[in-house]
Amino acid sequence: MITGMTKIVGIFGYPIEHTLSPFMHNAAFEALGLDYCYIPFSVHPDNLRSAAAAIRILNIVGVNITIPHKEAIIPYLDGLDREAELIGAVNTVLNKDGKLIGYNTDGRGFIKSLKEEGGVNPKGESVMIIGAGGAARAIAFSLAIEGVDKIFINDIISEKAKELSCAVSTKTSTEAIHIKDLKEGIGETDVLINATPLGMKKKDPLPIATDLLSQGLFVYDIVYNPPETSLLREAKKRCSKTLGGLGMLLYQGALSFKIWTGIEPPVDVMRKAIESKIV
Ligand code: NAP
Repeated sequence: MITGMTKIVGIFGYPIEHTLSPFMHNAAFEALGLDYCYIPFSVHPDNLRSAAAAIRILNIVGVNITIPHKEAIIPYLDGLDREAELIGAVNTVLNKDGKLIGYNTDGRGFIKSLKEEGGVNPKGESVMIIGAGGAARAIAFSLAIEGVDKIFINDIISEKAKELSCAVSTKTSTEAIHIKDLKEGIGETDVLINATPLGMKKKDPLPIATDLLSQGLFVYDIVYNPPETSLLREAKKRCSKTLGGLGMLLYQGALSFKIWTGIEPPVDVMRKAIESKIV
């Protein structure tokens, strides 16, 4: 029940109707008996500055930031944590006594999922990322922070892969190499990540030719809906292990929850809440 004491958190995006975050966070608040409510806010890009100001004015505890605002929100914040600064994008804002601090939990959510659900410690491994958009950026920097040996990055727009590789190589001690052809790095790759939207629609082509999938390769598809993409199905036949994107979604949310409340979230409750919406 909403009371006069209820604390508000939420999410800014445009469009926002598809978001699963309210289910996951509100289920967690209810399970812990916390007087919080998570609300979706449809924020048109023209109104982002006013929406950021409203976080302070309305005393909102914090918000998640999603497409298309993850980079655009930065000028309206008072500070960034180290990872958000490195990535250059924010998915979580905390209103700390009127100061808005930006965090990025996407990459750390991915790492937590890879380690806890996949049983893979990326330190010293070689990774290939297909796609060089926002999600790939967060993943690449978090992998570099974890001490991966090498990251191969590919995108249909070669310039995007080049820019991201260059940023990772310059700002971290990890070597990132942009590749035009997936054949170039696949032989050295331990973990393959699909960070493109391919797989969301039934008729999407695979992001990689099946003859490049081989035993020993760990395949992580960050697409979470459907839970099993055609890439994961093909990889299951040929590779050692696979994982879908639900865990990344879950853990980025769990990390945001902790930032806002200071309380360890009930991850199982959050997982059930999102699974019930996509399975
Ligand atoms: P994005 O910024 O649009 O980035 C996707 C990138 O992949 C774009 O640069 C795109 O190029 C490129 N691309 C598309 N097809 C490709 C192909 N065949 N080969 C190489 N590159 C290709 O999107 P995003 O925000 O990074 O999200 C990507 C996907 O991850 C979405 O499906 C999203 O739902 C999912 N995601 C999951 C989580 C999670 O928690 N599990 C979190 C964030 C995102 P163009 O721009 O030319 O199309």
